[in-house]
Amino acid sequence: MVCPHCGTVHRHYFKASRKLWRCIACRKDFSVTSGTIFAFHKLPLRIYLAAVSLFVNAVKGISALQMARDLGVQHKTAYVLIHKIRESLLIGRNESALAGSVHIDGAYVGGTVRPENRKEDRVDLRLAENQDPDKRCILVMRQNYTDEETERSGKVGAERTLTFIMKKENQADIGRFAPTYIAKGSVICADESDAYDLLHAKYDVRRVNHSLEYAQAGAEVPGQLRQRDRLP
Ligand SMILES: [Zn+2]
Repeated sequence: MVCPHCGTVHRHYFKASRKLWRCIACRKDFSVTSGTIFAFHKLPLRIYLAAVSLFVNAVKGISALQMARDLGVQHKTAYVLIHKIRESLLIGRNESALAGSVHIDGAYVGGTVRPENRKEDRVDLRLAENQDPDKRCILVMRQNYTDEETERSGKVGAERTLTFIMKKENQADIGRFAPTYIAKGSVICADESDAYDLLHAKYDVRRVNHSLEYAQAGAEVPGQLRQRDRLP
């Protein structure tokens, strides 16, 4: 075991009453959670491990209220726990450029305006002035497994995902993010939003019309991309 304070290896003794180790070299104490997001914890360790397990297994996310019920802790406790886990994801995020086959799309989150009860009171929700200013676009870039990796490990789909927050899909932001986060020579799959038009200049881009299909046949796995799927 390594002391997180001074890095000395295997020079410490366990203080059973406090469940801590003391380093003989620097005389400082440390525990199994020292240097992790769960340092200075108050709850039993299995609660934290259960929280991580619930968090990663929740496909569409988990609310603090639900986690509080599942763990038998207060809402506030679960709320802080979930935020610690999210913070750790951001710290450990690999922000190197994606490569190979990259899918890019935006999803609009929040800002749902409830229509008025009476028809004559309703407004055109498509107009910018009638939309909630808190509405945001979450931009997602996903790098797919290569054919070789799929062949080797059987893994399919997205290998790595980067997310960004913007007001809406637009050329200025896409033009800023793409050169940093998508490597040259990548094949990009995008929808027909004009925000992605400028990518054609630098990348091999394939477009899919979402009103007809969610993904082009074969556009999900690299190598299956066929000549006929490419736009003229
Ligand atoms: Zn030490």
